[in-house]
Amino acid sequence: MDKKFLLESLKDKFRKEKNLPLVKNVDDVVFGEGDLNAKVMLIGEAPGFWEDKLKRPFVGPAGKLLDKLINEVGLKREEVYISNMVKARPPENRDPTTEEIKSYENFLDYEIEIINPKLIVTLGRFSLLKFLPSEKISQVHGKIFILGGRLILPMYHPAAALRSTAVLESLRDDFLENKEILLGPQNYEIE
Ligand code: URA
Repeated sequence: MDKKFLLESLKDKFRKEKNLPLVKNVDDVVFGEGDLNAKVMLIGEAPGFWEDKLKRPFVGPAGKLLDKLINEVGLKREEVYISNMVKARPPENRDPTTEEIKSYENFLDYEIEIINPKLIVTLGRFSLLKFLPSEKISQVHGKIFILGGRLILPMYHPAAALRSTAVLESLRDDFLENKEILLGPQNYEIE
């Protein structure tokens, strides 16, 4: 079935959900965006101030950095799909709780199923833990894993890179060193 139709149906269903944490009305929700046929999907943590204001993922300072890194490897933001673990802003940008992550997990799982990316880039530790719960970001960032028929590439969160030059260098290196796979994950065999 048509991906746009499936995703819109999923959003409609989600908008009708009662008792979603962090949501006072349906307008608080920040859905994923990008190319529905993207081979690469990037998953962050939760919307921040600007994302909540503009109702789009990664459009604040961390998003600007992410766009830059995406462009540096020769991709455009419109060519990938960008989403978050949690779809509404935690107050004061605090970390999402386990319960909040759980409440939004179904939506994310369907979203991944519909987009069906070959490569998932996890941004930050919350997103990493969804796929590789026993790994530490400091040890696995920039390395490729295979899970459930997809490639998983853990990366530091761009917001962390804005706070530390060392993290920024690591994040940029991880993008550049994985340029080939980011540009053509479909060329990689997955056993
Ligand atoms: N940080 C995230 O994890 N997601 C966003 O959309 C913005 C900042």
